[in-house]
Amino acid sequence: MTGFLLFLICLTAAGRIFQMGPLGIPELIIIVILLLIPTGLVIGIVVVAKLVSRGGKRQCPYCEERIDSAAALCTFCGRDVTAPID
Ligand SMILES: [Zn+2]
Repeated sequence: MTGFLLFLICLTAAGRIFQMGPLGIPELIIIVILLLIPTGLVIGIVVVAKLVSRGGKRQCPYCEERIDSAAALCTFCGRDVTAPID
């Protein structure tokens, strides 16, 4: 649906640009929006991927390194991360 709408906007913009010659303000706005949408999508995907990849991690209370949330021993300092901290 959104893709079809964008396609229609693109067609309209392209048609107007070729008919009218020099770019007007509305055409420039459409071109900027069309360039911003993919950029925004890419940034959104990267942010979501980073958030998802952080899901299974927690911080070691001793060495502050990020370790697996299910780990019993820290892979960096080797201490027992299931025991309460003194
Ligand atoms: Zn550690």
